[in-house]
Amino acid sequence: MLRIEGLTSAYGALEVLHGIDLAVAEGEIVTIVGANGAGKTTLMRCISGVQPLRAGAIRFDGADITRRPDHARAGLGIGHSPEGRQIFADLAVEENLALGAYHRRGPLAADLDEVYALFPVLAEKRALPAGGLSGGQQQMLAIGRAIMTRPKLMLLDEPSMGLAPVLVDRILEVITGLRDRGVTLLVVEQNAFAALSIADRGYVMETGRITLSGPARDLIADARVREAYLGA
Ligand code: ATP
Repeated sequence: MLRIEGLTSAYGALEVLHGIDLAVAEGEIVTIVGANGAGKTTLMRCISGVQPLRAGAIRFDGADITRRPDHARAGLGIGHSPEGRQIFADLAVEENLALGAYHRRGPLAADLDEVYALFPVLAEKRALPAGGLSGGQQQMLAIGRAIMTRPKLMLLDEPSMGLAPVLVDRILEVITGLRDRGVTLLVVEQNAFAALSIADRGYVMETGRITLSGPARDLIADARVREAYLGA
């Protein structure tokens, strides 16, 4: 579904991704594990189209999307729940959700109902400013907004960041629930064990390069991964 080849990206003169190769097959949950600053967020932004590439190519569903703008990629089915949530604090919860569907016309009620069924607390607070939500609720809102794009591929950047353990479990359930409903997921997670425990495959990223990849269960068992990312 997604194939990235030789992706290089930079902030000004500072190159932070140095030739990334990565693929995600339809129906998979794939996770990217790596230390702070490895370039995971930059890679997600390159895929959704908000960060330019310096070199390389991105194919999605068989089409070359390397030069397509972010809204076109959303229209093709790439949903992005960015790091730091990036919700609009002054807008109501439901207005934030509606923004996830900005690239298409038509009624939103069924999509909103789907998000509210996943996160009932958002339904209760639908008319309130999003800035008043707790951190966990804002995370749900960011994921809900990505669901509103009706994604085939969902990019989740640090979905469990700052959440209490019980909410981390809830987010993991939501991720596997989305996959069960046919969504393919690429997940960046600081909580490497949690992410690998629900993923099919994983990539380890270090200073802008992929250094290891394979089935998630192999990575969980790998001594280098255990030492560096699983606190073992
Ligand atoms: P984190 O988990 O801390 O977000 P990450 O793996 O997602 O880490 P990135 O945020 O992609 O890493 O950052 C990769 C590198 O790019 C880092 O060295 C970072 O300092 C740098 N960087 C990120 N954003 C910018 C920016 N807007 N301008 C300049 N450098 C940046």
